[in-house]
Amino acid sequence: MDGRARKAQRKIGIMGGTFDPIHFGHLLAAEESRTALDLDEVIFIPAGDPAHKRERKTASPEDRYVMTLLTTLGNPKFTPSRIEIDRKEPSHTVDTLREMRHWYAPEKVGFYFITGLDAVLGITTWKEHEALPGLCRIVAVNRPGYVPQKLEALPAEMRSAIIPLEIPLLSISSTEIRQRIEQGRSIKYLLPEAVEQYIFKKGLYRRKLEV
Ligand code: ATP
Ligand code: MG
Repeated sequence: MDGRARKAQRKIGIMGGTFDPIHFGHLLAAEESRTALDLDEVIFIPAGDPAHKRERKTASPEDRYVMTLLTTLGNPKFTPSRIEIDRKEPSHTVDTLREMRHWYAPEKVGFYFITGLDAVLGITTWKEHEALPGLCRIVAVNRPGYVPQKLEALPAEMRSAIIPLEIPLLSISSTEIRQRIEQGRSIKYLLPEAVEQYIFKKGLYRRKLEV
């Protein structure tokens, strides 16, 4: 494309998550958002200290980052970021978006925060959620068990920032993958092979008693 014909604003997708572990549901959500909204790039941001998941032990931030790195290697439009895992304080989306806007000139970049319906339906419990519509558009991808109609219950200002996006439903969750590992069941074809190999190499998600 001719340089002068390029879009005035770069469109950057942000795929946030615990990624404990990352799986094909995350990848499909990111790729479908990228193609549907013509995003220039999708940045994958593993949460450092998942503010809402303290009740259970997560794999270390470093392990979750490495799995994200392995996963994003094969797509030139996907980039992993350490922005949250290198932060000392708990991760909140609003802080991450503000930091991103600090690094990228906001007038040159539009941010698209990609999230599943399950997560976005709880958005009014997020820190400073009222500020989010001023910082980004929110792409709400469907997920088995959740209907987009439920978005209508969110406040109008929030709804105006939300772009509902229908993607092929993949009934895959990190919780299910962790359970399968504990039970010694196969996790093949739920996540990239390199991530599967990394999980077994590092002995992640196994019950303490197992060898
Ligand atoms: P857990 O079971 O531990 O909560 P998860 O599979 O929900 O893990 P998260 O890291 O919590 O994964 O999710 C990160 C983001 O990806 C969230 O916005 C979530 O809604 C979305 N997401 C996860 N799995 C899917 C899927 N199968 N389809 C669409 N979106 C998904
Ligand atoms: Mg989740």
